[in-house]
Amino acid sequence: MPIVANGTDSVGASPREGPWQQALRTAIRDPLELCRRLGLPAEWEAGARRAARLFPVFAPLGYVDRMRPGDPGDPLLRQVLPLDVELEEVDGFVADPVGDQDARLAPGLLRKYSGRVLLITTGACAVHCRYCFRRHYPYHEGPRTAADWDQLLGEIAADPTLDEVLLSGGDPLMLPDGQLAELARRLSEIGHLRRLRIHTRLPIMIPQRVTDELLGWLRATRLTPLVVVHANHSAELDQSVAQALSRLVDAGIPVLNQAVLLRGVNDRVELLAALCRRLVDLRVLPYYLHQLDRVRGAAHFEVPVAQGRRLVRELRDLLPGYAVPRYVQEVSGAAAKQPLV
Ligand SMILES: *Cc1c(COP(=O)(O)O)cnc(C)c1O
Ligand code: SF4
Repeated sequence: MPIVANGTDSVGASPREGPWQQALRTAIRDPLELCRRLGLPAEWEAGARRAARLFPVFAPLGYVDRMRPGDPGDPLLRQVLPLDVELEEVDGFVADPVGDQDARLAPGLLRKYSGRVLLITTGACAVHCRYCFRRHYPYHEGPRTAADWDQLLGEIAADPTLDEVLLSGGDPLMLPDGQLAELARRLSEIGHLRRLRIHTRLPIMIPQRVTDELLGWLRATRLTPLVVVHANHSAELDQSVAQALSRLVDAGIPVLNQAVLLRGVNDRVELLAALCRRLVDLRVLPYYLHQLDRVRGAAHFEVPVAQGRRLVRELRDLLPGYAVPRYVQEVSGAAAKQPLV
């Protein structure tokens, strides 16, 4: 039996549905519903509908509730609202900007850097971020069958230089805890692995995802767990998210944040400073600030690198050193994410 199913279709109602599965089921998928719920002027609707055909809308209600109604420029809304400009072809903005296809070892297994591999556990996410660099990733090529999983685990087992596995996607926490616990068990049997890192936006989107079962298997595994969440703006970190992050930290799990520098979302120093302060107050360390990957449809989010450098320098003058994220860019074929400052 495969450890996981692949794709958004796997998310449906089930008799044993918990609060987080329910939040997925009731998420907004209709661009018009998103516009109307937020009371946007009608002229936003046609563009939203057109751009949603390229990459559908998906936004949990609990996240939408953190937005300011009537404000098309709301920084949370900007991350999920499809816009007409996404349809424009812009030079240099391509389907696979980070060379994922050249890094494939097996279906769903990417190796770019020394010592660590990235596992595309599922194509599904708890939100569709309009700037996502994997918005065109061929998730259907990911691991689906038991044989795919055996091949992938075999590749990891065969390479003793690996000591860390990153679960990514999509969002690995879209999978039920039973499947994740089983995957963690199989990984922990590979003697040379030391750490299991989980890259997820779910604790930010649907904080109820931090269940007792999740904390249970994370605490129980032989591997050292780390969790990297993804928040771009302090308004994402409301009280419910604060509690979810606190549960992870209280369980002894290091929690880091990565953000993407996004025009119209967090491209002012006071916004970045507020995000970083809020994170460290919640005991989450700012890890990376990513330069936008140049994916087709996301050009309107780009902040020039020169401006990004200026912002991060200003941030350093405002914050303690540990609260300043590393400003990096992913370069196809490079041995690590490239520092920009
Ligand atoms: C970003 C990434 C990693 C992790 O890089 P760190 O600098 O260790 O956070 C690992 N593998 C792949 C393929 C990546 O894209
Ligand atoms: S959660 Fe991550 S992988 Fe999913 S759409 Fe957003 S940026 Fe992309």
